[in-house]
Amino acid sequence: MSARLLDGIASAEAIRDELRAEIGRLLAAGRRPGLGVLLVGDDVASAVYVRNKMKACEELGIHHETLGLPASATSAQVLEQVRSLNQRSDIHGILVQLPLPDQIDASQVLDLVDPRKDVDGFHPENVGLLVQKRPRFVACTPAGVMELLARSGVELAGCRAVVVGRSDIVGKPMALLLLHAHATVTVCHSRTRDLAAVCREADLLVAAIGRPGFVGREHVKPGAVVVDVGINRIEDPELARRLLDPGRLAAFERRGQALVGDVCLPEVRQIASAVTPVPGGVGPLTIALLLRNTVRAAATA
Ligand code: NDP
Repeated sequence: MSARLLDGIASAEAIRDELRAEIGRLLAAGRRPGLGVLLVGDDVASAVYVRNKMKACEELGIHHETLGLPASATSAQVLEQVRSLNQRSDIHGILVQLPLPDQIDASQVLDLVDPRKDVDGFHPENVGLLVQKRPRFVACTPAGVMELLARSGVELAGCRAVVVGRSDIVGKPMALLLLHAHATVTVCHSRTRDLAAVCREADLLVAAIGRPGFVGREHVKPGAVVVDVGINRIEDPELARRLLDPGRLAAFERRGQALVGDVCLPEVRQIASAVTPVPGGVGPLTIALLLRNTVRAAATA
């Protein structure tokens, strides 16, 4: 058996098409959606993520601006920038790119973001609304996973779902969304005993761990749907040989690096009924959901 690959690029494009119509209506009413991004420090990966988000905004005609602060910025400086974005009427969505440098209290910064502009869904008010099944802004990655599953026709009601990872950004909101979709949900983490056995109970397995190729054949029940949230850069040739197909391996040998997920695709493809690839799976949905949250913030401002 070879699993169906769930195409995140196509689903993200479908969402962008829906947004184009909505943005057209907002522009006609004289309201251009605006996203303000706060980027603190010089983390290379963060800069790439922000650039990709900005490019996606541009393609849809969403106004965007990035406020950059040096890695040495103080909490007071970061908080001041958040306050200024909160007050701007042309900025409907605010995104604080994580991680923030160590000297800055991330909770304090995220708590200050106006909850009605919190397009990342990290503010406690938005987290609370999600818990109560009254979602306003939901974290983009788990919301993107739900979109991908719905658009791929995956039935969730009554299924056994196992989420590996319990972060505030992915694992916890993912578990809540699946629960609200009537799945029976188990959340696993680094202290879970006999993780592989728990994972093998899953009809739907979501890996949000941050370890390249961690989920192998021993974690997957035959016919399960496997969602790979992980994004990991690898440089180790041996790992590359285990995780990459021949086409991607050739590219790895030229570049010396590749992006992979938490799932060992060559193994899991033989057992699962469907699996999301990395890249081209969950990642594009994360950006599409950020755009959708920004458009919604503008529509309800
Ligand atoms: P975190 O590091 O915050 O959380 C990782 C989770 O995995 C933790 O709950 C941790 O458990 C658990 N974990 C780690 N090792 C093991 C193990 N050996 N066995 C079981 N559980 C384990 O990561 P994030 O949630 O922020 O991100 C997860 C992955 O998703 C990363 O690769 C990240 O790059 C990617 N990501 C992708 C996005 C996308 O757009 N596709 C967006 C956001 C993230 P414990 O709590 O016990 O430490």
